[in-house]
Amino acid sequence: MRIRTGSATDVGRVRQGNEDSFYVSSELVAVADGMGGHLGGEVASRLALEVVIALSERREGDLPERIVEANRAVLERSRADREVTGMGTTFTAIEIDGSVGHLAHVGDSRAYRLRGDELVVLTEDHTLVRELVRSGEITDEEARFHPQRSVVTRSVGIDQQVEVDEGQLDLREGDRYLLCSDGLTAVVRDEELAEMLAEEEDPQECATRLVDAANGRGGPDNITVVIVDIVDDEG
Ligand code: MN
Repeated sequence: MRIRTGSATDVGRVRQGNEDSFYVSSELVAVADGMGGHLGGEVASRLALEVVIALSERREGDLPERIVEANRAVLERSRADREVTGMGTTFTAIEIDGSVGHLAHVGDSRAYRLRGDELVVLTEDHTLVRELVRSGEITDEEARFHPQRSVVTRSVGIDQQVEVDEGQLDLREGDRYLLCSDGLTAVVRDEELAEMLAEEEDPQECATRLVDAANGRGGPDNITVVIVDIVDDEG
C-alpha cells in the first residue's frame, strides 16, 4: 500500500509546553500524549516513541510488545530521575504491513477510520469517564463536561505492567486514518471530524485545519493530528 500523510501539532492556547509527540514514516505512525507536570510529559511521550521506533527499525517484537518495552523504559527513567517522577504517556499507533494495519493503543489518544463518509473510532478511551459511561452511570454528553474527564486509567510508564489494546485493520484504497491526541477530540465532536476529514482532500492541509479548529475552540490542551491516506497498491 502506498500512503500519503499529513501531520500537525500545536501547544494550544492554554498550556505552556507541548507534551505531545508524534511519528510518521511509511511503515509506522504514532501519537503519544505525555503527562506528568513540568518536564515529565514531554520526556515520557518522546522516550516511548524513541523506544518503539528503534525496536520497529530492528524489527524486534510486534507493536504491542514494543509498547511494553517503552513502558519499561519510561518507568525506569521515571524512577531514576526525580525531575520526571510519575510521568506517563498515551500511545496510539498503526504499523503498516502491506494491506494490513496493526493497531495498538493505550490511553485516551484515538484512532479513527474514514471510509466513504462513515467515520468510526477504532480505539476505546482508557479513561474514568469512559468506564462510567460503559457502566451506565453517566451519558456520553455528561462525559464531555465531566470534571474528571481527563483522568486516564491506563498509560505507558506508570505501572510495572501495561495492557495494550490491539487490532488488525484491512487497509483499503481510499481509506483515511486519523490518529490524534485528546486536545482535538475534547473540543471537536465526531460528526464535525467526519465532515472535516471528508471535505479536505489534502492530508497535510486537513491536519492543519483540524488543529486550527481545536485552537478556534480555545485550544485547552496540546493538539496533535496525524492523517494517513491509503492511496493505492503500487510501490
Ligand atoms: Mn492531552
